[in-house]
Amino acid sequence: MSITTAADGIKDITTPLSDADVESLKTGDRVRITGVLYTARDAAHGRLFPLIERGEALPIDVRGQVIYYTGPSPARPGDIVGSIGPTTGGRMDKFTPALLKLGLKGTMGKGARSQAVKDAFRQYKGVYFGAIGGAGAVLSRFVKKVAIVAYEDLGTEAIRRLEVEDFPAIVVNDCHGGDLLVIGGGGAGLRAAIAAAEESSRLSIAVLSKVYPMRSHTVSAEGGTAAVMRENDSLDTHAKDTIFGSDFLADQDVVEVFVKEAPGEVIQLEHWGCPWSRDPDGRVGVRAFGGMTVNRTLYAADKTGFHMLHALFQTSLKYDRIVRYDEWYATALLVEDGRVGGVAAINLHDGQVRSIAAKAVIICTGGGGRIFPFTTNAAIKTGDGMALAYRAGVALKDMEFVQYHPTGLPGTGILMTEASRGEGGHLKNKDGYRYLQDYGLGPPTDEPVHRKMELGPRDILSRCHMQEYAKGRTFEGPYGHYVHLDLRHLGEKVIDKKLPFVRELARNYVGVDPVYEPIPVRPVVHYMMGGISTDITGKTSLNGLYAAGEAACVSINGANRLGSNSLTELLVFGARAGRAAARAALEQPALKANPLALLAADERKRLEQRFFRADGRERIADIRETMQKAMEEGAGIYRDRPTMEKTCQTLRTLRERFARIGLSDRDAVFNTEVIAALELECMLDVAQAVAHSALVREESRGAHTRTDFPKRDDARFLKHSLAYCTPAGPRIESLPVAITRWPPEERKY
Ligand SMILES: Cc1cc2nc3c(=O)[nH]c(=O)nc-3n(C[C@H](O)[C@H](O)[C@H](O)COP(=O)(O)OP(=O)(O)OC[C@H]3O[C@@H](n4cnc5c(N)ncnc54)[C@H](O)[C@@H]3O)c2cc1C
Repeated sequence: MSITTAADGIKDITTPLSDADVESLKTGDRVRITGVLYTARDAAHGRLFPLIERGEALPIDVRGQVIYYTGPSPARPGDIVGSIGPTTGGRMDKFTPALLKLGLKGTMGKGARSQAVKDAFRQYKGVYFGAIGGAGAVLSRFVKKVAIVAYEDLGTEAIRRLEVEDFPAIVVNDCHGGDLLVIGGGGAGLRAAIAAAEESSRLSIAVLSKVYPMRSHTVSAEGGTAAVMRENDSLDTHAKDTIFGSDFLADQDVVEVFVKEAPGEVIQLEHWGCPWSRDPDGRVGVRAFGGMTVNRTLYAADKTGFHMLHALFQTSLKYDRIVRYDEWYATALLVEDGRVGGVAAINLHDGQVRSIAAKAVIICTGGGGRIFPFTTNAAIKTGDGMALAYRAGVALKDMEFVQYHPTGLPGTGILMTEASRGEGGHLKNKDGYRYLQDYGLGPPTDEPVHRKMELGPRDILSRCHMQEYAKGRTFEGPYGHYVHLDLRHLGEKVIDKKLPFVRELARNYVGVDPVYEPIPVRPVVHYMMGGISTDITGKTSLNGLYAAGEAACVSINGANRLGSNSLTELLVFGARAGRAAARAALEQPALKANPLALLAADERKRLEQRFFRADGRERIADIRETMQKAMEEGAGIYRDRPTMEKTCQTLRTLRERFARIGLSDRDAVFNTEVIAALELECMLDVAQAVAHSALVREESRGAHTRTDFPKRDDARFLKHSLAYCTPAGPRIESLPVAITRWPPEERKY
């Protein structure tokens, strides 16, 4: 390997270059080249080309070499070479693929290259460096020796051999990217990337992730993934359960596609290595989940997300054309002429802001539960992709619907999976009473019954908890009120086989072994039903932009998601978005490099001024804490107008305060303070979209419960809400719900 990364983040390159060297370079990399460069412009290329066509030897061996498109001016006395600025690379486009085929590895010039040349970089592993235009005299300082090696009669256009030291350049086109960029390396992102790679072998696909893909939040999913696998089940039943669970706000055409494609996806995942748990007869096991009429949740013990993500990650490694940008943080979509042309992102390893061009972009950045103080979501779930799309003019759909999961551990919010109730766990109040029977979910039975008692849907179970609390029938602990999740009657064998992770978490985080004691639990923010508004293929209203997974709202979850539908959603709609975006990328021409470079430069300036050099007096920790508290108060399980209005006002004030933040870490390498500030800026956008959408919806539906409007109101609100970004805050519009075969009815379990 003749490439190393220096402490300043610049890559030091020594020529000649190997395929592996070229593969390690990525668009946006800053480099210093040492070794040999050959010069050649139009006239010299015009002479080389007929030789190539006739299969004759060239005057230079191009294998592993870099050709610099320049014609140096004569050297002044005492100088090695005169001004040596780059000429336009596009003029050499018709010759370059043939030279790359012969083993040329690098070209250097200024301006954009044609699609054919970019394809050739990928096919033959080549790279295009941009040299600094207008600074020819400066560049000559890096040249240590010059000799003419061919076509002396061409004067300045003769082929020269330059020996250079630390010659500065930027990678403009690498051998990977340019077609499709996926932001997010979780379940949705990896499924989308694989689908795109399968769609065409001509596509180059980049996956950019702020954490290493296997640390994406999908890894923490526990209970399972829903798909129709058994004779006692049907697509219609799965569709009806989902629509009923959504309180009739799901788009029914989308749900029908979802349930139809789900079984193929989970079988495919098994073929990719996902070890689904089995029944004794060898068939894939299915367990009960809340709100489902039959057992239809496939699982891999209670570590389903870990195994699914592993299978997807391993499969993605099979494709050379999927290149990863691990630990890069996307800060903005680059949009020109109503079309997305790439993203600006910070490479966390060196703090450099780079632009990554793409003909289509898929946002798979997951949810934003961290806008609330108490959540099952890890610190990385800050709604970044939602905010990026929102700022680019795309609507966020149904943001008011935030799911509370009824069983999180007090203090940490760590999830006790719904599978523990699916396997037969009981919820009991401080009197040891299975209180759900008092809320229309009874009668209580020893064995779990679908859609009854503990297998009711999450929104209803969370409200029941709050009502028990209001009646003084919950326990009180250092982290507030809680009830008991009792698994003791399942016995150690079942717990260890089917819920080993629950036992491990309960022991480690609350010091309770569920084999012998009940686990303290309380409702906790878990999932966002809303997200980037997409159509059934994952396409958004912005040309070239797609979204999938929890970041998106394709609209299968409506007002309340059924547990185990979202892992399936990321498979079905990750794959759909991947295919659709791949087709779009194949059809679209690339955006011109110049406007993209300007957009990226603007973003670089914004980040520099507002974040890397932020010197105000406001602390991001204070702003974050105030935001989370306001969200819990105004947009929690129960909502009403006065508290929501107060929350909206608090969020407005927080935005003003955010403009005055101060950050003390000035380091470029892994500056987590800057990233936390960028995440907070995203969370403020997402929080506003949630609070304002909630204020406008004057009814109670699914997870959105208003004490001032306690009934569902189909006449006024059987519609999606769309939040648009404006300087004055979110503007809320609406969109009809697609009803196909299931007319709205009262939602009773
Ligand atoms: C504890 C827990 C348990 C769950 N259990 C289940 C279950 O059993 N069944 C079920 O169906 N659902 C479950 N869910 C929900 C489900 O796991 C998630 O909805 C789903 O995994 C989200 O996947 P995703 O690919 O959309 O996002 P994630 O897996 O969260 O991935 C997001 C990706 O985006 C990247 N990213 C984010 N922002 C940026 C940025 N600015 N720049 C670059 N990259 C960025 C991240 O690095 C990451 O790679 C659970 C959720 C939780 C929290």
